[in-house]
Amino acid sequence: MDVAQYLACTLKKLRHDRGLSLSQASEQTGVSKAMLGQIERNESSPTVATLWKIATGFNVPFSLFLVPASPPTQALYSPPLQDMQVEPLFPFDPHLGFDYFSLKLTPGGLSESSAHDVGVIEHVVVISGILDLQIEGRWYQLQEGDRRQFAGDRAHSYRNSQAREVHFHSLIHYPVSGR
Ligand code: MN
Repeated sequence: MDVAQYLACTLKKLRHDRGLSLSQASEQTGVSKAMLGQIERNESSPTVATLWKIATGFNVPFSLFLVPASPPTQALYSPPLQDMQVEPLFPFDPHLGFDYFSLKLTPGGLSESSAHDVGVIEHVVVISGILDLQIEGRWYQLQEGDRRQFAGDRAHSYRNSQAREVHFHSLIHYPVSGR
């Protein structure tokens, strides 16, 4: 099953399991009913930011929507241009409560993330290239090897203002309670 098809099935199943109509799911996630329907029918591949809104609205880990990673993995999620490429490095384990991603952002790329669930903590480490990271309205420039931990439950953005791709890792720690 390809990545887009997997995403479509997962979203549809999750919504049905919760007994939600498309309208109710739209209210819960802040993503339009039309967009949710398109994703479920595999007619549209959402941006990483949209996928995060859905994960947050349903209170599930982001990696739930990606083809499960069993190393060595090639479960790349490559939404439209200007966005990020996401590869889960480890499968989500509810007892450990984290997602660990490898991310690539093309030159000129910008990914604006809405706030994740309350208590989510992100840890970003730059592997190669230079990453601009915006946290609470302030931009930070992270060089290769630089790292930063921040509260993911507030809006934040990732940007590549350089001429070469930036590759970074992000560990998303989800709060233990309620999961
Ligand atoms: Mn984030």
